[in-house]
Amino acid sequence: MDKQTIEDIDQENYLQVFARYNLVLSHGDGPYVYDNEGKKYIDFLGGIAVNVLGHAHPVLVKAVSEQAGKIIHCSNLYYTEVQAILAKKLATLSGLDRVFVGNSGAEANEGAIKLARKYGKTIAADKVEIITAEHSFHGRTLATLTATGQPKYQKGYEPLPGGFKYVPFNDIAALEAIISAKTCAVMLEPIQGEGGVNIPDKDYLIKVRQLCDKYGALLILDEIQTGMGRTGKMFAYELFGVKPDIVTLAKGLAGGVPIGAFITTNKVAAAFTAGDHGSTFGGNPLACAAANAVLRVMDEEKLLENAQIIGDYLVDKLNALKSKYPALITEVRGKGLIVGAKLTLPGRDIVNNCLSQGAIINCTAGDILRFVPPLIITKDHVDEMIAVLDKTLAAV
Ligand SMILES: *Cc1c(COP(=O)(O)O)cnc(C)c1O
Repeated sequence: MDKQTIEDIDQENYLQVFARYNLVLSHGDGPYVYDNEGKKYIDFLGGIAVNVLGHAHPVLVKAVSEQAGKIIHCSNLYYTEVQAILAKKLATLSGLDRVFVGNSGAEANEGAIKLARKYGKTIAADKVEIITAEHSFHGRTLATLTATGQPKYQKGYEPLPGGFKYVPFNDIAALEAIISAKTCAVMLEPIQGEGGVNIPDKDYLIKVRQLCDKYGALLILDEIQTGMGRTGKMFAYELFGVKPDIVTLAKGLAGGVPIGAFITTNKVAAAFTAGDHGSTFGGNPLACAAANAVLRVMDEEKLLENAQIIGDYLVDKLNALKSKYPALITEVRGKGLIVGAKLTLPGRDIVNNCLSQGAIINCTAGDILRFVPPLIITKDHVDEMIAVLDKTLAAV
């Protein structure tokens, strides 16, 4: 099918909820994707922090193909080796005890919210409140869009589930003012992704942890975007010296195969008994085999280290552009390979211009260029993207 035919069908037959770019993708190779006319793009979005191994990584392709040839799905009525291996690996890596695997980020957070509610009620009937941050993003289901501290995602879906409160991110006094014995959980992204790559002060999460402990509230960290080595650590909470009671993962976990997971302690997990939560597809052998392959490659190819080194290099290169175009870029911030550059103008035209020159980048929160590329990229790939961005900024 040609490009126009595909776009016409989409516009007639797909739900029109995405403001899509004028691009039809057909395949990928490492940090590159190709459109259906054969044009090559360097991919600094990675499917929004999903394709941690890049595209068509041979180990992931082999793992998924082999698993598909054995068994794709069998339901959670039975045990599988691949799920057991993944659970053990995630528990070990997180320093927590118990894993539940679902199919998406929103579903992971939904499960974490349900668990926090059940746990709160083991302490007091009214311990049900969940505090989240303004400009956060936690998903699109009713509970998770309510947890999301951005009215634009909530408008029109009222009545929303009750019991959610919001505080400004990185403002410990604001949290201290509303946390109470009724709080069952504080739910935060360690670094806000969708909200604009917002990095909190070094001691913010430590103080949040202390307040949670004081009031017997759980700390839920949404690491759907920041987890899986994105920041140069397996979990971003390692950067900040805290440990959550529940952590959620999704995006990068299976390198692009749909998956989500929450991990918690034995103490909290005890609030759930058989029948309290579930999923038909969640933790299916295909997704678990993919996640196991991703974790293996991350280890073998030292991708945490790479994320740190290349992330620092990317920040340096963006800072050089900031010096060159001080009227366009005002701030560069990042940890590992989640990096943002604040613009003085909306970013959509810049993203579009980069696209027409063969580089996929992203803009979030209106004026923040966000870079969440595959963790396998090299300095040469950074140079390639930066050259396109440089040309684009020069033309503004
Ligand atoms: C993407 C994202 C989600 C939602 O994940 P879905 O798989 O789209 O449901 C939740 N939280 C954070 C921090 C995210 O970045």
